[in-house]
Amino acid sequence: MTDSEQLSAKQKAHKAKMEKHKQKVDSSIAAAKIERGVSILMTGNGKGKTSSAFGMVMRALGYKQKVGIIQFIKGAQDCGEADFIKAHCPSVDLYQMGTGFTWNTQDMDTDTAAAEKTWGLAEAMLKDPSYDLVILDELTYMLGYKYLDKDTVVNAIENRPSEQSVVVTGRGGGSKLRSIMDTVSDVKDIRHGYRDGLKARKGVDY
Ligand code: ATP
Ligand code: MG
Repeated sequence: MTDSEQLSAKQKAHKAKMEKHKQKVDSSIAAAKIERGVSILMTGNGKGKTSSAFGMVMRALGYKQKVGIIQFIKGAQDCGEADFIKAHCPSVDLYQMGTGFTWNTQDMDTDTAAAEKTWGLAEAMLKDPSYDLVILDELTYMLGYKYLDKDTVVNAIENRPSEQSVVVTGRGGGSKLRSIMDTVSDVKDIRHGYRDGLKARKGVDY
């Protein structure tokens, strides 16, 4: 076989493989017929949960959709994505609990009160059909520490307007929350530079 014959056999095989793949993709696209808002849980120990949620914020804003963001925990530390939203996205409603990490405050009553107040804002968004996308960043810790009642949270997510999508981030979250979300991604921690002494990097980690 000449070089050009060999190349064309390779191209033919590639084309056949791609055609088969396309058929598979097309049939799964055709099989997905339900059209409504999606609930997504980004969990796991690896890096990428909050940054994924903000990637979806960018996507939604690209279609001029209305976005609401509630950041439980965040607010006490620098956070580039929140600063960007505040400076450049006036249409986005963003609230931060602002008490920092619980091991910094070490006061259960203060944390519970802050969590409940912040949850009130989240609950209002989850009832408001004008929001296309609601981000509940680090919400799972509020459940883990029992600052919020998990049934209340689960009910609010389940009963949100049908066209609204919601993204919850944070490690854990519990089996009840996992069971009701449409999409659950467990971000796996294979390595994090932090454990080798790498300092959190502005623009990458926060
Ligand atoms: P990111 O905001 O970068 O998407 P995340 O939301 O997945 O991270 P969080 O648990 O919210 O992760 O942690 C926020 C900060 O902690 C970020 O600076 C992130 O780089 C860092 N971080 C995330 N995962 C790990 C890990 N496994 N070990 C150490 N630090 C981590
Ligand atoms: Mg996070």
